[in-house]
Amino acid sequence: MCIFCDIVEGKIPSTKVYENDKVLCFNDINPAAPVHVLVVPKKHFDDIRDMASSAEGKEYLGYVAEAIDEVAKIKDLGTGFRVINNCGADGGQTVMHAHFHVIGGVKLSEKIL
Ligand code: 5GP
Ligand code: ZN
Repeated sequence: MCIFCDIVEGKIPSTKVYENDKVLCFNDINPAAPVHVLVVPKKHFDDIRDMASSAEGKEYLGYVAEAIDEVAKIKDLGTGFRVINNCGADGGQTVMHAHFHVIGGVKLSEKIL
């Protein structure tokens, strides 16, 4: 069982920001900034290294990049934002389904890291 697979399948509700055939983007339940969207491939990959290990995973990385751009448009992030991927336990990854945090809506250098 994977919580993000359940969200992708609609078994667990989420607040959708953008969706296409390949990617679902929804608000993080515990936002770190005014805009905090999770960009999630609809196919399960454990992490970004798992995505990098197959041709299909590399295609999905392209879909993720497109979806990040759509989220930036929808959330009016033209002045900038940050994309974070936590990979593995020591990288802080807590949900073992690859995902990318899009964080913005604030001047990040003053708020995070
Ligand atoms: P990670 O720590 O793996 O990089 O990021 C996991 C993120 O998923 C966290 O920021 C956490 O708040 C978010 N999250 C965990 N469970 C849920 C959930 O059920 N719904 C939503 N919308 N976000 C979740
Ligand atoms: Zn999954």
